[in-house]
Parts: sequence; C-alpha cells; structure tokens
Amino acid sequence: MAPKENTQWYDLYHEVVETGLCTGCTACIVACPFHVLGYEDYRPVQLQEDGVDRCAHGDKGCSLCTLACPRFRDWEREVDQHLFGKVRRPEEVIGHYHDIVLARATDPEVLAHGQDGGVVSALLIWGLERGEIDGVCTSKLSDERPWDCEPAVVTDRQGVLAAAGSRYTYSPNPLAMLKAAEMGLSNLALVGMGCQASAPGSMAARRVNKWAKKVKWTFGLLCSKSFTYDGLMVEIAQKELGLSLDEIVRVNIKGKLLFYTEDGRELTYGLKKSHRFTRPGCLHCPDFTAEHADISFGGLGQGEGWTLTIIRTDKGKDLWERAVADGVVEWRPGSEDPEAIDKLFKLAVKSRERWLPDSPWNAPAAVPAGEVATAEA
Ligand SMILES: Cc1cc2nc3c(=O)[nH]c(=O)nc-3n(C[C@H](O)[C@H](O)[C@H](O)COP(=O)(O)OP(=O)(O)OC[C@H]3O[C@@H](n4cnc5c(N)ncnc54)[C@H](O)[C@@H]3O)c2cc1C
Repeated sequence: MAPKENTQWYDLYHEVVETGLCTGCTACIVACPFHVLGYEDYRPVQLQEDGVDRCAHGDKGCSLCTLACPRFRDWEREVDQHLFGKVRRPEEVIGHYHDIVLARATDPEVLAHGQDGGVVSALLIWGLERGEIDGVCTSKLSDERPWDCEPAVVTDRQGVLAAAGSRYTYSPNPLAMLKAAEMGLSNLALVGMGCQASAPGSMAARRVNKWAKKVKWTFGLLCSKSFTYDGLMVEIAQKELGLSLDEIVRVNIKGKLLFYTEDGRELTYGLKKSHRFTRPGCLHCPDFTAEHADISFGGLGQGEGWTLTIIRTDKGKDLWERAVADGVVEWRPGSEDPEAIDKLFKLAVKSRERWLPDSPWNAPAAVPAGEVATAEA
C-alpha cells in the first residue's frame, strides 16, 4: 500500500533525513532511477544543484525514493501487512515470527568462520550451491581501512566464507544490489541489520518492483547499534585499549565490546562508555530484531558458537525446514536458553523507545504501557 499522496525527495529529506530517522541504509539510492542521490557520511545526498531538498525528477512526479525507504511514514505497518498479512501489536516487540531456535552450522569450516554459529553463512552457501539464489548482497572487510567494512556481492562458498563474521561499523549492504544488477544477478539474498532488512519489504509493499523482485531471501542481523570507524577502531581499540589493528582477529559484542588478539588475549570495553561513538543513524532505530527479515540472526545466548535464530516469514520457515532436512544446520529450541530469550525481548523494548516520540508515524513502534526496559544494549 503506497502513501496516498504523491511524495518525493523533498518529503524524504525533511521527514527522514533531516529528523535523524535516516539510518543510511541506501534503499533510496538503489531505487532512484535517475542516479541523482549520492552517499556521504552514511546519509543520502542530492547530487543535483537545485538545493539539498530539491529534486527535478521529484517535482515531475517521481516518488521512488520515498517508496523504497524503510523509515518513511507508515513503513512498519505497510511492511508488516505485506509480509505477514497483519500489523504487529505494540506488545509484540520483536515483531511476527514462527519460531525461535538456537542453531549452528554442521560444516566445521563454516562454523569456524561464523561470528556465532555460522548459520547465516551456512544457509547462504546452501542456497548458492542449490541455485536458489545466484548472489548475496552482504558486507566484506574494507580493502582500505582495517576492520572497516563495505557492501559486497558474493556468489560462491569462498566468497561467503571470506565475508563471514561481524564488523561493528556500518556497511550499507543494499547498495550492493546495484553491483549485483550490473553482474546480471537476479535471485539475491540480502544480509543486513534491521534498517536494511526492512528495505526489500518496503520496496515490495510499495511496489518498487524492479528491485523488490530481485531479492529472494532477506536475512536480518540483530543489532542495537553500529559505531563510527573513528570511534570504534581508532579511539577505543587503538587509543584506549592500546591495540594495533593488525593484531585483532575478532571483535564481538556480548553485553560489552570484546576484542580478541592473535596471541589469545581478550580485551573488553563497556558498552555504556562506548555510546558516544554510536553512529548517529542508529540513534532513533526502533528495530533490534530485524523484524522484516525472512529469518533474523543474533549472538544472544549463554553458550558460545550458537546463533539465536528467529524464523519469521512463511518463506523463511520453508527454507529453514529444507536446510535442516539437508543437514546444513542443527538446532535446539530457544526455550533451552530462557535468559537469552528474556534479553532478546528486553533489548527489543529498549530499541523501541528510541523512535522519535513526537513522530506521527510511531504508533505501532510504541513501547507497551508500563514496560520498563532494564537491559543494557
Ligand atoms: C553491526 C552489528 C551489530 C550487531 N549487534 C548484535 C547485538 O547487539 N546482539 C546480537 O545478538 N547480535 C548482534 N549482531 C549479530 C551477530 O553479530 C551475528 O551477525 C549473528 O549472530 C549471525 O551470526 P552467524 O555466525 O550465524 O553469522 P555469519 O555466518 O558470521 O554471517 C554474518 C553475516 O553478516 C554480514 N555482516 C558482517 N558485518 C556486517 C555489517 N557491519 N553490516 C552488514 N552485514 C555485516 C557478513 O558479511 C555475513 O554475511 C550484530 C551484527 C552486526 C553486523
């Protein structure tokens, strides 16, 4: 269901970019058929010279950037309705889902490469090898800055394994859809945090069909925030913890920031203290659990090496069951780790509180009355 009136870049700029709701996901840039939107400091910018909020094509009736945007106006209800045939109630803080399980890859090499249970990578490799998808839009480590990341298209096992693991700076993965289209790929999996995982649903709900049709699977990553590169890797890792970037082998967030070094050390940094380095585009994001993914994945859990997996859409359920039947992943019920489930819901409530309180579009994103969020993100 598209917004009723004709909307355009002017509306997107003033309602989403200027207000701070823009996450920098790049769906608007992907959808713009005139290529007049660029990307600077994690935000879309108008490349035409008529003014930051003006678009000559918008003035002539083009509304594709607003339609693709997963934060524009009634995005949450529209995408909910399209994907699930119903709108979540305020108390359904993690969105709609079929099941929550703890899972891991059965292939030891995939498990070793994964951030948690390697489930994302295992499913992607399985999908590519079966021909269900022909490319994956995800992130890879940056060629230029150590431990930064950037969008990438991968098409085989080697590429998926090279891209596995989490980086906690921001990679606008939807942008890789432009590259995938240039490569002639049309059955894509998109991997991304909630801000990005709502993009295919937005595009589909509002009929930005050229792009919506290319995304077959949407895989979401649980996320409470990403960091600026200078904050995470320069100020925290190098200056405060005294690390050099080439000795870091893994970064993780488990209630605190964790840096692992090649000589086996684990250095920690408090999440509260790190808040000043949060990327501005994350500050108003209400979606911890990637509510519009086919399947969402997170590292919450008391045991290392398992991925907390939320199976959401019918499509997600179908592909999950087939992957399990093929022996690609193994799983146990989420109820075996009640602390993780409790934390999942608490963190989801906490993120819901971040949506702009005076926005006219926040009704379903509201936190249920009387709910007190206590968990630290
Ligand atoms: C910025 C960020 C914040 C997160 N915060 C939380 C959290 O607070 N709580 C929680 O439970 N889980 C969080 N996660 C998810 C968690 O780190 C794992 O990605 C998830 O558990 C899946 O693990 P896996 O081993 O199955 O995935 P893997 O098999 O390792 O695959 C991970 C996939 O994520 C992609 N990826 C890695 N970094 C990025 C990035 N920066 N941007 C986009 N895509 C990326 C990789 O390319 C790969 O395709 C976060 C992830 C990210 C990227």
